[in-house]
Amino acid sequence: MAFDVIIIGAGPAGLSFARSLKDSGLNIAVVEKTSKEQLADPAYDGREIALTHLSHKLMNDLGMWPLIDDKQKTIIKTAKVVNGNSPYSLDFDHSETSKDNLGFMVANNVIRKSAWDALQDSDNVTMLCDKTVAKVGTNAVRGWVEFEDGERLDAPLVVAADSRFSATRRMMGISTSMLDFGRTCIVCTMSASRSHFDTATECFHYDRTLAVLPINDNKVSIVITLKSEETQSVLDMDKQAFARDIENRLNHKLGSMALTSELFAYPLVATLAKQFYTNRFAVIGDAAVGMHPVTAHGFNLGLQSAHILASEMMSAIDEGKDFSSAQVLSRYSTKHQRIAAPVYHGTNALVKLYTNNTAPAKLARKALLHLGNIVKPAKSLIMDQLTEIRAVDGGRA
Ligand SMILES: Cc1cc2nc3c(=O)[nH]c(=O)nc-3n(C[C@H](O)[C@H](O)[C@H](O)COP(=O)(O)OP(=O)(O)OC[C@H]3O[C@@H](n4cnc5c(N)ncnc54)[C@H](O)[C@@H]3O)c2cc1C
Repeated sequence: MAFDVIIIGAGPAGLSFARSLKDSGLNIAVVEKTSKEQLADPAYDGREIALTHLSHKLMNDLGMWPLIDDKQKTIIKTAKVVNGNSPYSLDFDHSETSKDNLGFMVANNVIRKSAWDALQDSDNVTMLCDKTVAKVGTNAVRGWVEFEDGERLDAPLVVAADSRFSATRRMMGISTSMLDFGRTCIVCTMSASRSHFDTATECFHYDRTLAVLPINDNKVSIVITLKSEETQSVLDMDKQAFARDIENRLNHKLGSMALTSELFAYPLVATLAKQFYTNRFAVIGDAAVGMHPVTAHGFNLGLQSAHILASEMMSAIDEGKDFSSAQVLSRYSTKHQRIAAPVYHGTNALVKLYTNNTAPAKLARKALLHLGNIVKPAKSLIMDQLTEIRAVDGGRA
């Protein structure tokens, strides 16, 4: 079978991209190393994803949002950033925006399922599961992938959505900066006896950071960032002891708490590809930019990469031009770099500041929180970055 586009990886970015090309007339293959069953019903992985208003819009346009049960969507009304044990916080409230919320929370496996379900009526997409891409290459007019079993496919365009550790990106010679924070993120869900009031809280304690994100039924998603060497001792903790520790770290603001999921650990490595394309080959999702989760931008950027690349390809098709030309891919790369690079570098700078325990850094953090509350343009800039409301209202997408 001849394909026009081969997508490597059926994560949320690869599937959203395939869905974006539903009306393109292009014949698409999505190659994924896991099974069809795992894609159709992905297991819970502890990640509760904060989605911006732009992602909400894009997921609506792709038919994903309506497929998610309302009970699986939580809204965030307010957000707080706390420094150490200080009662002072930098506050964001939806009432300072044009919307009735700052954003949404949906579990990663639910997003993945919605992307899979939304694809089911796309006749132009062939899923090739249980297939691992072992090699990739391109010539002047086409790209090709070779599976571990030696089978080969070719197409005018290959798009890699195979994670931040993309092996195919490396094979295609796209240079990528990687920042290993030497830290690990532990995530889980917990129930709480007191209300979270739809508030997301980021506590920058001195030894570790703790994010508390609201989810329905008065549960919260707990995101702990700690030195990687401490990971195993936290994973080995007795469930009761873990709950008491979190209660103490939150100064009992959420009352008594109990674990409602297992603990999941993710080593923190951020990646940014120098450019998002080369000849007949493009990278999207985490393969383009793999974010530190503290600013909750990873999948939000992944959706945007899929949207921008698909839009550039569709424009070329409408104009009767080659959808996989260097001009098309370069326009995608430039546009997405302009959005992703500042977010990537800004997030890494923030992480550096909040994991530095020297006295000047502590002082700078304190000053930043106060300034953030007082200097209105700075605050609205941060708010805009977190919610992407202006991107929807002002039409950046
Ligand atoms: C703790 C945590 C919290 C997060 N919170 C947020 C948040 O609040 N907001 C947000 O926007 N983002 C968040 N993220 C980021 C978000 O989870 C990722 O950006 C997103 O899941 C990446 O999707 P992807 O499709 O690009 O890659 P992946 O989900 O990594 O998918 C890659 C796919 O490619 C397949 N694959 C890989 N190699 C091959 C191969 N050789 N052949 C075939 N298939 C292959 C894999 O099996 C996989 O299915 C968080 C991440 C973490 C770790």
